[in-house]
Amino acid sequence: MLKDPKEFCRRNEKLEGGVPVAGFPRLAALCSNPSDELKWWLEGSHSASGDIQLDLTVSGKLDLVCQRCLDTFSYSLDSKISLLLAATEEEADEMESRLADNDPVEVIVGGDSVNIMELIEDEVLLSIPLSPRHDACPNVPLDKLVKKPDSPFSALEGMKGRVRG
Ligand SMILES: [Zn+2]
Repeated sequence: MLKDPKEFCRRNEKLEGGVPVAGFPRLAALCSNPSDELKWWLEGSHSASGDIQLDLTVSGKLDLVCQRCLDTFSYSLDSKISLLLAATEEEADEMESRLADNDPVEVIVGGDSVNIMELIEDEVLLSIPLSPRHDACPNVPLDKLVKKPDSPFSALEGMKGRVRG
């Protein structure tokens, strides 16, 4: 929990930590190795328009499950987001209306404290692929991946047929 995010941002403070996937119940359900560790950094500042801003960076390696071969799929996460903190829902609506559609910024409502673990988990869940797949699955039998070359005799056989016909 981040107590007093306003003060945290006013002082441009920074926090960082590491936490295993097992610490995030929703994320752990998607990962095959609960001891994979995520690193996170949180920095307080203010946006150009003076709003309270938290910059969150999360990175790490996650073992997801490939949806094609069901084997482990190693995903490198490196995600950054800026969060603007609104005191109330009304303020959040007002702040969102000021943002351009393509701003890599999200508005959250938080009063006296912010649940950092929840922010991290939300951000990771949005960043990982919905349906993770290997570019090329390592354990699919070769004959399913490589088209069998035509036998060199099949061309001859075709010729034989023509000669005979
Ligand atoms: Zn695969």
